[in-house]
Amino acid sequence: MTDRVLIAGMGPAGLVAGLILARAGIPVALFEAETDLPTDLRASTFHPPTLDMLADLGLADLLVEQGLKAPTYQWRDRATGDAATFDLTCLKGQTGYPFRLQCEQWKLTRAARAALEAEPLATLEFGWAAQDVTQDDTGVTLTLTRDGETRMETGTYLIGADGASSAVRRALGIAFEGFTYAEQWVVASTPVDFAAKLPGLAPVTYTADAEEWFVLLQTRDLWRVLIPVEDDADKDLILSDDWIEAKLQGIAPHETPYPIAHRTIYRVHQRVADRYRVGRAAIAGDAAHINNPLGGMGMNGGIHDAVNLAAKLKAILLDKADADRLLDHYSDQRRAIAEEYVLNHTHQNKQVIEEKDPAKRAAHLERMKKVAATPPDLLAYVRKGAMMDAVDKSMAVMP
Ligand SMILES: Cc1cc2nc3c(=O)[nH]c(=O)nc-3n(C[C@H](O)[C@H](O)[C@H](O)COP(=O)(O)OP(=O)(O)OC[C@H]3O[C@@H](n4cnc5c(N)ncnc54)[C@H](O)[C@@H]3O)c2cc1C
Repeated sequence: MTDRVLIAGMGPAGLVAGLILARAGIPVALFEAETDLPTDLRASTFHPPTLDMLADLGLADLLVEQGLKAPTYQWRDRATGDAATFDLTCLKGQTGYPFRLQCEQWKLTRAARAALEAEPLATLEFGWAAQDVTQDDTGVTLTLTRDGETRMETGTYLIGADGASSAVRRALGIAFEGFTYAEQWVVASTPVDFAAKLPGLAPVTYTADAEEWFVLLQTRDLWRVLIPVEDDADKDLILSDDWIEAKLQGIAPHETPYPIAHRTIYRVHQRVADRYRVGRAAIAGDAAHINNPLGGMGMNGGIHDAVNLAAKLKAILLDKADADRLLDHYSDQRRAIAEEYVLNHTHQNKQVIEEKDPAKRAAHLERMKKVAATPPDLLAYVRKGAMMDAVDKSMAVMP
């Protein structure tokens, strides 16, 4: 049998892994449950190492053309308007992209899909949902369903990149421990320019407050606002024009009603799979770890998984490297980073942004201002926030 890698899910993780493998000469078969690529309002931040990885696939400059370069990001205090601003240009020489790129996730998946469709060794099928996985010494079989129809596909290896509710993860019996935050999170976007209203505002801003923290994220055409609401808040009320209008006017008064381009409400979890690999199947991206969006690390971490895993599958299939050793190595490397780095970092960001004590908030901001003004501290801080340390540390985890 010719070696072939099956991939469940065509989000950023599945498509990036598929593209690397197909371009290396390994046949890949991708299956997506939806009938087209989702275009919902999800990640909007690409960190520098992710762009370096996407540059190797010819995708980074395409995204830069469609996005907004954010050379700075900021911690602010809502009550005082005081801010600490971090300048990522200090990363010059360490990355080809010394900025955060603000660009919608669907622009990446659309570009990666087009690139994969041009690869003769890749097949992409939509509307087929992964249901079950079985495997033996020679291969792995994925059961897929569509509209009551069932089929089976066989490959040498399987990547489960089928998102937070991963059917592959469940079929493999992998636990997904962690917790769900008590509040719901609302995202709304508007073309109104918040930078013209809030002096000194950076394109990415985390604004701390005792009562209602918020995040402002600029993309090329819109500003996104992320706000928490109570656990039991009525969804229809929260997503109504009036409710969102009142919240946006509270952030920055605007003479006419804010036009709203998108709105969504969702629950946020901090969870990591107890292992990333069972036999010939491995999981990547949200299938393996999910976290709050404070820091923009979810999609980025998923792409880092995909690049790591694809490199190992290449070594296994093309160079006959030891599969057990390398797949365990993938699991150890990427799981350690999700648990020790991404989950901790994003949870700490949440604790800072919702700090109720004004003295503690002020002390944090003073510390951040000192960091921002001290070049070695600034470099260390932005390397961490940009996930550069995470990528380096993950490569240092040995089997
Ligand atoms: C509102 C919001 C804002 C976010 N902001 C950021 C941010 O700023 N920065 C950041 O890094 N991350 C952010 N994230 C997280 C980011 O969107 C995810 O981490 C990212 O989409 C994960 O990519 P993935 O490929 O692992 O999974 P997904 O993007 O979820 O892709 C999984 C794919 O698998 C498909 N699928 C599901 N079940 C099956 C099945 N059984 N069989 C086949 N296919 C299946 C799905 O339809 C989907 O296309 C945000 C998320 C949300 C919800």
